Amino acid sequence: MFKGRYSNFLEGLVYGLLRLIIIIIEIYQERINTNMSLGDKMHAEQQLKSLYDEARGYAFEYADSVAERNVFPSSDAIRGLDYFVEDMPVENGDGSEILKQLHKFGSPASTAQTGGRYFGYVNGGIIPVTLATKWLTDFWDQNTALYLMSPIASKLEAVCETWLKQLFDLPDETVAGFVSGTSSAIFCGLAAARYRLCDNKGWDFNRQGMNGAPSLRVITGQQTHGAVVKALALLGFGLDNIEYVDCDDQGRLCPEKLPELDDSCVLILQAGNVNSGAFDPFDEICTLAATAGAWVHIDGAFGLWAGGTRQLRHLTQGMNQAQSWSVDGHKTLNTPYDSGILLCADKQALTHALQASGAYLHFSENRDGMHYTPEMSRRARAVELWAALKYLGSKGVDELIVGLHDRAVQFSNELSQQGFSILNDVVFNQIVVSCNTTDTQTEEIIQSIQASGECWVGGSMWQGQKVIRISVCSWVTSESDISRSVMAFVAARAKVLKAS
Ligand SMILES: *Cc1c(COP(=O)(O)O)cnc(C)c1O
Repeated sequence: MFKGRYSNFLEGLVYGLLRLIIIIIEIYQERINTNMSLGDKMHAEQQLKSLYDEARGYAFEYADSVAERNVFPSSDAIRGLDYFVEDMPVENGDGSEILKQLHKFGSPASTAQTGGRYFGYVNGGIIPVTLATKWLTDFWDQNTALYLMSPIASKLEAVCETWLKQLFDLPDETVAGFVSGTSSAIFCGLAAARYRLCDNKGWDFNRQGMNGAPSLRVITGQQTHGAVVKALALLGFGLDNIEYVDCDDQGRLCPEKLPELDDSCVLILQAGNVNSGAFDPFDEICTLAATAGAWVHIDGAFGLWAGGTRQLRHLTQGMNQAQSWSVDGHKTLNTPYDSGILLCADKQALTHALQASGAYLHFSENRDGMHYTPEMSRRARAVELWAALKYLGSKGVDELIVGLHDRAVQFSNELSQQGFSILNDVVFNQIVVSCNTTDTQTEEIIQSIQASGECWVGGSMWQGQKVIRISVCSWVTSESDISRSVMAFVAARAKVLKAS
């Protein structure tokens, strides 16, 4: 009895003390928010760190509920976005309130990409340690333009470069540029190609420019990605000058349809067709290109990672004979967004094409990241990539990437059993699905699936037919996520067919 009363007293004391601490913190916060200069306020916030704790609380709440949320935001959530529409404030605000507003109205209006049933585009998931790494390095806030700005970022870029070269079995002289995404990586690769092919003909593109430059040819498959076309336009190749080559029924460039190649040609091949996931036959084409003295760039935004596995490596056979490659960390490798990588076997061509100078830029003996990218200031994105590779190891890369493939195969099998037709060979993580309905009905089925909130898939055109396109892209996606999504397909089809 004495014991009980004693512990009650202790409990009361602890509770009272906690209350007191909370009250002191509240008073302190109140002080922060009123009558303080902006500078003092930010200093106090930085010291108190409660904003970071609040953000962490909201983030964890989000993470814990994302799996059961509507994959695409509900219409209520979309309406909540109106709260952000206001005149730009004049007075400085309250950090806590800003986070609160973001979580209350922003979080519900995000797509549940990290939840396991998002199959649109090719949007990857996020490996926990890479996200945690991002949090830590956000506190560093490094600029990776120069070694002198961030020795750690420079070192980890160099380590990633070496590891990627080994993982993909690329030539020793290959260098890497860490850019925002594959669009940017393709741009860099093609800029290097333009520099090299002109230089081979005695033309310094940087100095002499495009007027009177040797005319270059660009050759790519009919099903090349829009990002390739964009880079070609930006670099002045001229879209009307693209020599498109026919593809087979999987979307692979047909080598026998290639025009005669010569040393003025840039060939752009694909590791992972954005609809079917198919890979161009690199071995055969690279051999032809090498004989002709042409430059080959391989766009492998999500597919290049197959080259880092044992089981799927055969898909990228011969890819190491190319001159440049583009790949994303943020797609199938599941790092946070903003992780494009350009790999180039011709360091001189790349660094000359992306050259920059200025009296205030102090280059070092160490790796200065800006030599390999179009930007100067960049955040230290390679640290997250490093964390992913360090965490996974080559075995883990294999397990992750092959796992996506396995679940894509499961998805296609279960859809077939339900009477959907799979129009591609599911060689990687992409599935092209026909509902065996009219194009209009297929579009309605897609919209019905999206509206169900159960999963999210987009549409595409495949050989003149409206199709559903699926990308299995996240480590989170489980076998039951797949089965549940197949049921959403079945329900949507039944609904649309009943209505028509
Ligand atoms: C996603 C993708 C791109 C563009 O990459 P971003 O990182 O979105 O810029 C280019 N090519 C292919 C094949 C892709 O899948």
